[in-house]
Amino acid sequence: MADDIFRRSLWYASAASAPETAPLAGEARADVAVIGAGYTGLSCALHLAEAGAKVVVVEAGEIGEGASGRNNGQVIPTLSRAEPRELGEGLAQLVCDSASFTFDLIRKHDMQCEAVQNGWVQPAHTPGRLRLTERRAREWGLLGAPAEMLDRDGIERITGSRFWYGGWVNKTGGKLNPLAYCRELARCAIAAGAVVHTQTRAQHLERAGLRWRVACEGGGVNAERVVIATHATVQGLWPGLAQSVFPVRSYQMATAPIAEELRRGVLPFDHACSDTRGDLHFFRWDAHGRLVTGGALAVPWDWEARQRERIGRRVSAVFPRIGVPVFDYLWYGHVGITLDRKPHFHELGPGVLAWVGCNGRGVALATSVGAQFARACLGTSLGELPLPITPLAPVFGHAIAKHFRGFGILYYRYRDSQEIG
Ligand SMILES: Cc1cc2nc3c(=O)[nH]c(=O)nc-3n(C[C@H](O)[C@H](O)[C@H](O)COP(=O)(O)OP(=O)(O)OC[C@H]3O[C@@H](n4cnc5c(N)ncnc54)[C@H](O)[C@@H]3O)c2cc1C
Repeated sequence: MADDIFRRSLWYASAASAPETAPLAGEARADVAVIGAGYTGLSCALHLAEAGAKVVVVEAGEIGEGASGRNNGQVIPTLSRAEPRELGEGLAQLVCDSASFTFDLIRKHDMQCEAVQNGWVQPAHTPGRLRLTERRAREWGLLGAPAEMLDRDGIERITGSRFWYGGWVNKTGGKLNPLAYCRELARCAIAAGAVVHTQTRAQHLERAGLRWRVACEGGGVNAERVVIATHATVQGLWPGLAQSVFPVRSYQMATAPIAEELRRGVLPFDHACSDTRGDLHFFRWDAHGRLVTGGALAVPWDWEARQRERIGRRVSAVFPRIGVPVFDYLWYGHVGITLDRKPHFHELGPGVLAWVGCNGRGVALATSVGAQFARACLGTSLGELPLPITPLAPVFGHAIAKHFRGFGILYYRYRDSQEIG
């Protein structure tokens, strides 16, 4: 049974149902065992199964019950903080191409997930950040992204708001119904031959000769290779993995359908929009005239009432035409944040791959990483992948620091108020 908060999301109410799956019962054998049925695990399983590999996915909850079924559905071909020059050539190119990779996959398999590739816009919230967006447009443009800089009038034209100072647009970005996309990935992976077991928590990994056994509730999966695709919520699977990432709560909200005349002019070209703040302001339409937005809180106390108030005020400040909306859906999920705000990729043991640290940008990235992990499982050497494989780096003092992770947003609010760029 899915957790309450997941069931309260707009996506849970609107996505077509998941393919039939059952818990693992007994022992299974595969070429690759994948732990986690989000975008990483399912993209990996789909690409493996298409290449003829035998793959078994185990998922502790439902398909998409992690971040993949709860996010804002913005398909963004950048990272939240790290700039292309900080990523290394291979990873920067992978990120740059990741939205197109995702939409191409959706088109190839005719996935029904309300996908719209009309572009992603990042408006600047101060003149200094406008210079930052100029640099971003230039740097991503050098990698081949169709990046366009817009002045204040240009941003007003495509967002319907004079709230920002200008910004940049990447036309390969877009939006989708995130849970529908995840369930479609599962449907396609299963059709290609992958086996998905839901309500099956992996407990630990054991070496079984030259293979691995993923010990689960209800049995085990014996495989040559293992992909740990558990994102922010990893527990106990591999020493130090959980200590290398902080799961931070991100709140999502969807309004009641907004009348056509109030909607007119607001994100009129159906872009996905997230601005330059660390305390991100983000907006998109769903397929039925609901504005899907949200925001962060330092402490979860009374979150629902506070978010209705805070984000209601924010919507009316950014889009005065809409005013303070009624919210029909409120939910949250956990984003995996790393200290350097970059994704980390690991080979934990022989044939065991994992990554952490989407830092809030993972719809396109996790889809691409899953495909790269599939290549590695099929024999491509790790050195040939566009992913920098680094040693696991548990954070010193994680056990204490994790209790204060929500307060990071206070630092970002402070930075947001400073004129830098
Ligand atoms: C609220 C929110 C909003 C976001 N908005 C955006 C956005 O608009 N755009 C964007 O690009 N990114 C966004 N992200 C980030 C994006 O959702 C993630 O990067 C992406 O979904 C990660 O996919 P994943 O498959 O790696 O992890 P997940 O989708 O989290 O999947 C991991 C799965 O592993 C399972 N699992 C965990 N432990 C075990 C175990 N022991 N055994 C078996 N299964 C296990 C979990 O149940 C889960 O289903 C957002 C994230 C959140 C939480």
